Amino acid sequence: MNILGIIGYPIEHTLSPLMHNIAIKHLGLDYIYLPFEVKKENIAIAVGGLKGLGIKGINVTIPHKESVIPYLDALDDNAKFIGAVNTIKLEDDKLKGYNTDGLGFLKSLKIDAQENAKGKNIIILGAGGAARAIAVQMALEDAKSIIIANRTVERGKELAKYISSKLKAQSSKLLSAISLKDSLLVEYLREADIIINATSIGMKETDTPLFLYDYISDRHLVCDIVYKPIETKLLKEASARGARILNGLGMLIYQGSLSFKIWTGHEMPVEIVKKVLMEEVTKT
Ligand code: NAP
Repeated sequence: MNILGIIGYPIEHTLSPLMHNIAIKHLGLDYIYLPFEVKKENIAIAVGGLKGLGIKGINVTIPHKESVIPYLDALDDNAKFIGAVNTIKLEDDKLKGYNTDGLGFLKSLKIDAQENAKGKNIIILGAGGAARAIAVQMALEDAKSIIIANRTVERGKELAKYISSKLKAQSSKLLSAISLKDSLLVEYLREADIIINATSIGMKETDTPLFLYDYISDRHLVCDIVYKPIETKLLKEASARGARILNGLGMLIYQGSLSFKIWTGHEMPVEIVKKVLMEEVTKT
């Protein structure tokens, strides 16, 4: 029996064990996927333990995506570029880190929303780990412009500067960061093709909107990477204003399916997984 899993803190709400174990069962593979609650101060011994115990693969979630890096033997190009890891594979006694978050979002954008980033004006709300992976991916896909709007403007600026420095060859790309409160946000919203909420706002009914929904129109594709609730207030309001919408379940599934392929070499049965996860997130 091969062991896969996820490390994070807290970890009790993760849907990853459900997702991967359905895929494992459907394909009849000799694997099991388990959640491991790992506190910040235990990250070094937890990652060391993967080798010691022969755990074949692990997902990494909040708050460890960056702090695991010093304990790995190698990183793939995406993880190197993003500066964060969401997937680790043990192979030939070496731990290699990957990042499938941005690619997972991109796949969902292409498959679920039939949309491309190339040549598009994109606004990303947020500058945390998920926003970082998505922003890097959108830049690599040759978006026309990327505006990062974050509550803490310094964090957004640091992210914009980081991506610009990595993309020296494409310096014409318009990449900048503003505060969510900046009046320029309205101008950018007017010009935007794709608006992506990559903050945690929207998970709770009582969450205050990040901007005035009246700036959304039928020219927009509005994406929310929050998947519980499956249709956030932002998506409901966007839909009511004629915009196309994309929920966060696709990103969750595609980042998972990319990790699954890295570990097992098999394609995840995405449609089966989607059906079960949809039931789970819409449960009251
Ligand atoms: P993170 O690194 O902790 O970043 C959180 C982001 O949300 C930051 O930009 C933060 O702004 C912003 N934020 C938090 N509270 C806010 C508030 N009250 N008002 C305005 N902005 C606020 O978290 P993350 O890993 O990027 O995850 C963000 C969300 O994406 C979570 O809900 C997570 O579940 C979801 N997610 C979904 C998927 C998927 O597959 N669908 C994958 C990864 C993450 P500051 O910088 O100002 O603090």
